[in-house]
Amino acid sequence: MSRSSPKVGFVSLGCPKALVDSERILTQLRAEGYAISPSYNDADLVVVNTCGFIDSAVAESLDAIGEALAENGKVIVTGCLGAKGDVVKQAHPQVLAVTGPHALEEVMLAVHKHLPKPHDPYIDLVPAQGIKLTPAHYAYLKISEGCNHRCSFCIIPSLRGDLVSRPIGEVLTEAEHLVDSGVKELLVISQDTSAYGVDVKYRTDFWGGMPVKTRMLDLVKHLGDMGVWVRLHYVYPYPHVDEVIPLMQAGKILPYLDIPFQHASPKILKAMKRPAATEDTLARIRAWRAACPELVIRSTFIVGFPGETEEDFQMLLDFLDAAQLDRVGCFPYSPVEGAAANALANPVAEDVKQERLERLMEVQAEISAARLERRIGQEMTVLVDEITDDGTALARSYADAPEIDGVVIIENSEGLVVGEFARVRITDAGDHDLWAERI
Ligand code: SF4
Repeated sequence: MSRSSPKVGFVSLGCPKALVDSERILTQLRAEGYAISPSYNDADLVVVNTCGFIDSAVAESLDAIGEALAENGKVIVTGCLGAKGDVVKQAHPQVLAVTGPHALEEVMLAVHKHLPKPHDPYIDLVPAQGIKLTPAHYAYLKISEGCNHRCSFCIIPSLRGDLVSRPIGEVLTEAEHLVDSGVKELLVISQDTSAYGVDVKYRTDFWGGMPVKTRMLDLVKHLGDMGVWVRLHYVYPYPHVDEVIPLMQAGKILPYLDIPFQHASPKILKAMKRPAATEDTLARIRAWRAACPELVIRSTFIVGFPGETEEDFQMLLDFLDAAQLDRVGCFPYSPVEGAAANALANPVAEDVKQERLERLMEVQAEISAARLERRIGQEMTVLVDEITDDGTALARSYADAPEIDGVVIIENSEGLVVGEFARVRITDAGDHDLWAERI
């Protein structure tokens, strides 16, 4: 499997509304691991966002499609011209797909069909099953590229380079556009959200004429004023993360942290070269929960890393018991081509990895279920993701990130609208999901 990212070329024509669509498509492409290519030749396919407002714009759009076809050959057309019947297909029957404006979902489906992306649990910022884009009321906001860490099991720094933070003004503008176009939940992603701005020394940028520093606290403060859910992914337990907890307690951003701890044994964390490996993570979690009792923490772990003894693994189980994390994902260690950890001594046998994976998930299943059970009787705000054919609403509370966590099931969806918030009372809990009724 090639480890280089599939590359998409992008041509954006038309008015500011078309530009917002382009930004949303580009954001989604980046979030899913596609690279954006500046040239036709280098791209695996090209998306052309067209304008069809006046005749000259139609001609310009058709020319742009023709040029992309001549230079690259694989072209997906979106935008206003796509909405005008068969104009595009008649002029350029070879295009792979044509959609109208504001068609993020269809564009992404067409991209997935003609240029699938490989999934790697160590690399991907989004789940293997992809992002379900119906309904499009949540969006991933990628704040940086690359990573300054050198975790021994990971090849992202060699693939994507060192951390490059996007200017905060640009990120906030994109967030505003997303909110203006109906997004109700922003999911902040990067390889290390807590490192945002380190590479540019927290440079001051401008947003709406106002100076803002390129750093996590300033970013989440401003996002928290946008009136939508803001969820933080890929945060490390550094001391400065403490600063965002009061914003969670104040209801500005969701009291939810996705922190990939990966292990708890100091020896293994050191061998993994994990960021914040020397922090007293349990003390930090306790302090966060004292400051914000509603805080939900999700994490991922790797079992069977080279050199992991039964004692190291037991430390991990003890950590889970003490940390009482809400949601946990776990992978057995598997070598990634090019990763430094491949050279480490004492690999763990496959059957031992599997056995540890099962033991870990068993321990965590009880913890997660107990934490969910405490919700029974509580009133919660949920965001409705889907209404199924049998009239059941699938929603999420602040405690559930889309695609990776559980859902809140509301059997009678009468009056509920996909993409809107609702107040519910939790009536039952399972291992992953909750059941609720409308209030
Ligand atoms: S923090 Fe570690 S695992 Fe994450 S991208 Fe950076 S090097 Fe890879």
